[in-house]
Amino acid sequence: MRQVRLEHLNTKSFGEGGFTTAIVPIGACESHGDHMPFGTDALTAHALAICTAEKLSSTVVLPPLNFGMSDHYRHKPICISLSNDTQIRVLKDILESLHRWGIHRVLILNGHDGNIPCAEIAARDLKVAHPEMSLAVFDWWVVVPHMLPKEMFEVWNGWGHAGEVETSIGLSLFPELMDMSGARGMVPKVDPLVKEIWLFDELTRHGATGAPKKGTKEKGDKIAEAVVRYLVDYMTRFEAQGLRHDPEEA
Ligand SMILES: [Zn+2]
Repeated sequence: MRQVRLEHLNTKSFGEGGFTTAIVPIGACESHGDHMPFGTDALTAHALAICTAEKLSSTVVLPPLNFGMSDHYRHKPICISLSNDTQIRVLKDILESLHRWGIHRVLILNGHDGNIPCAEIAARDLKVAHPEMSLAVFDWWVVVPHMLPKEMFEVWNGWGHAGEVETSIGLSLFPELMDMSGARGMVPKVDPLVKEIWLFDELTRHGATGAPKKGTKEKGDKIAEAVVRYLVDYMTRFEAQGLRHDPEEA
């Protein structure tokens, strides 16, 4: 198997690897209920990044960022959060370092909702500073409704923090860290089209929303497979040519 984890490579093996592209997995350290580990988001993003890069030819996976912007989850122990400003700075510094080493094609693989604005701002700032870079941000869970049948999920289309989808992928990727005896969630009435700015304790009494009890390893295997399939397809083109929009006259 190709070695794709940067922290396991050395100067020589990195040089021989011919890496032109990187995946930066980012997560968070916060409660995911009594049934999933604090590191769920980074564990998930990192595992998906490795499975993807092993099927590619010139993509390296950075060590995961184990902290994220989690201030809206701070009511449950033990949330360790970066502020938006810090998270943006950290991501920009990582992207700048990659740029300095000639890695101009970078995908941020995000596992946590609080990182969405930070990842986008960091990538947009870098793109303006270095137009030759190809930068993309991917929130893994967005694939689910596009690649899997809706009927697969029993409650709230599988959504939720540590809900049916996330619990399932945890059971698939790191079953040894899961404790389904603690699985409890609540389904809040949030508007699906308006970006409502909530604190998590307004949505649920637990560390989870949605229906974690409905999570299964079988569903998780299918979700992980679908995400990796989508990413391998996307990254094969991205490795070869970066972002190429080829607009046509209309
Ligand atoms: Zn999560």
